[in-house]
Parts: sequence; C-alpha cells; structure tokens
Amino acid sequence: MDLGLSGKRAIVLGIANHRSIAWAIAQALAAEGMQLCLTYQERMEDAVRQLAAKVDAPLVLPCDVQRDEEIDAVFQTIEREWGTLDVLVHSLAFAPREALAGDFLNTSREAFQTALDISAYSLVAVSRPAAPLMERAGAGSILTMTYLGSERAMPGYNVMGVAKAALEACVRYLAASLGPRNIRVNAISPGPMQTLAARGIQGFQGMHRHASEVSALRRVNDPDEIGALAAFLASHHARGTTGEVHYMDCGYRFLGI
Ligand code: NAD
Repeated sequence: MDLGLSGKRAIVLGIANHRSIAWAIAQALAAEGMQLCLTYQERMEDAVRQLAAKVDAPLVLPCDVQRDEEIDAVFQTIEREWGTLDVLVHSLAFAPREALAGDFLNTSREAFQTALDISAYSLVAVSRPAAPLMERAGAGSILTMTYLGSERAMPGYNVMGVAKAALEACVRYLAASLGPRNIRVNAISPGPMQTLAARGIQGFQGMHRHASEVSALRRVNDPDEIGALAAFLASHHARGTTGEVHYMDCGYRFLGI
C-alpha cells in the first residue's frame, strides 16, 4: 500500500540509539520517502548523527525538551529550511531512576514534576510551534508513545504510569484543540520492548518475560511493527482517527487472566 508520504516532512524526537522506538519509526518514515529532522539530547549526539546518515536526514538538531530555547530553535530551523511540516513523532520520556523502583508512596515532589514535565508536558510544548507549520501544509499528524501503565498499576512503573496517564489526556485535549486545523494527535501503546529507557524500570525483565508468555500472540513487539503503525497513522489513510490510544501490544491489554 502506498502511504502517500513520499516527499513529506517529519520531525522525530527521542532517538538515543539503534534500539530506540523513535529509530524504528524514523526508518519506517524514511522508507516511505519522507524527509526527516532528527533531534537528540546532548549526550546522544554522536549516536544520533551516525543513525541520521543512514536515513539521509537533512536536519539533525539538539532538543532537550526541558529547554524552551532549544525547542524554539528547532522549529525556527524547520520553518527556515522547509516552511512546512507534515508529521511530528514524540517518542521520549524520563523519570529519575529512584522513582522507577520501590514503593510509589515514596515518590518525591521533584521526581513527580520532572517525570510529568519531560514525559507529558513536552508533547504540548512541541505541538504548539509545530501546529502553524502543519496548518501551512494543509494537514498534520502528531504521534506519541504511551504504555498500559497509564491505566493499570504496574510494579516499578510508578510515577511513569502517572506521566503516561497525563500524556494520554494531553493527546485528547490537543486533538480537540488542533482538529479544526486538520491536525490529528494520536498515541501508540506497545508492550514492553528492550530499550535504554526500559532498562531503568525496576523489574522490567520480568514484565517483558510475562508479556511474551501470556500475550495472545505469545511474543512481544518487534520494532518494525511499531514503525509500520506509526507510518500508517502519519498518513492520509488514517485521516479519520484522532485523540486515540492505539494499542499494538501483541494482544495483552484485553486479556482477563
Ligand atoms: P529510549 O531510551 O530509546 O528513548 C527515550 C528517549 O527519551 C531518549 O532518546 C532520550 O534522549 C529521550 N529523552 C529523555 N529525556 C529527554 C529530554 N529532557 N529531552 C529530550 N529527549 C529526552 O527508549 P524507548 O523505549 O524507545 O522510549 C521511547 C518512548 O516509548 C517513551 O515515551 C517510552 O515511555 C515509550 N514506551 C516504551 C516502551 C518500552 O517497553 N520500551 C513501551 C511503551 C512505551
């Protein structure tokens, strides 16, 4: 199926290394012929530049989502270089390590604020400057990554579950805000995947094993299938869906026992 993305432009935030979900999505969008802007957090620059070369990304820019000046600079560069933007992929999250272990009751105010700022508010912060560029393109698709820990209490996931619940609410409010401008906002919810961020969650290996044993498909996600869903949601074929969380978890969420 031709997704009609060829020649269109996307920004992908959240690549740390070759295991990142953002990288799988960037590859899927590049395979559809999209031009990419990839952003990185300072310490990830070398890895991201090496990966960017593999997909011929013309723009590779720093963007720490806690720094408003870096967000502004990214979208000013896109406006100057491209003038329009079709797709934004937000695939990033962070909580202090100590908040992703032990008893949720002990979550500090500081860890709570950091997790919510980076993992949820940042979607609003990057959608705002992206919107006029998408409006100019005639349509836009904004995607973010969430997890079932938003609606179920998962051991160790703790404050990140709260952040994902806020992120999913942001998806709905942004979709309501941007829908009249023909900009869609959706989240993808995969099962556990072996990435850098996931390794910071206490008990993650157990969650991963459990999901692979009991999910209906008896496996966990491979990154390519997340890339494929992202490319579909980015495309005109998904033009009627917005404000939704799209589960692609190999059949885990719907199970009872
Ligand atoms: P990852 O470690 O590869 O990516 C996380 C990214 O967040 C990194 O690139 C990091 O640089 C970025 N980041 C953290 N703080 C940032 C900041 N202040 N500014 C800019 N970027 C920042 O891990 P991943 O698993 O690919 O995570 C991507 C997304 O997928 C996250 O939202 C995560 O919660 C979500 N997710 C992951 C899983 C999983 O099991 N791996 C499951 C469901 C959802």
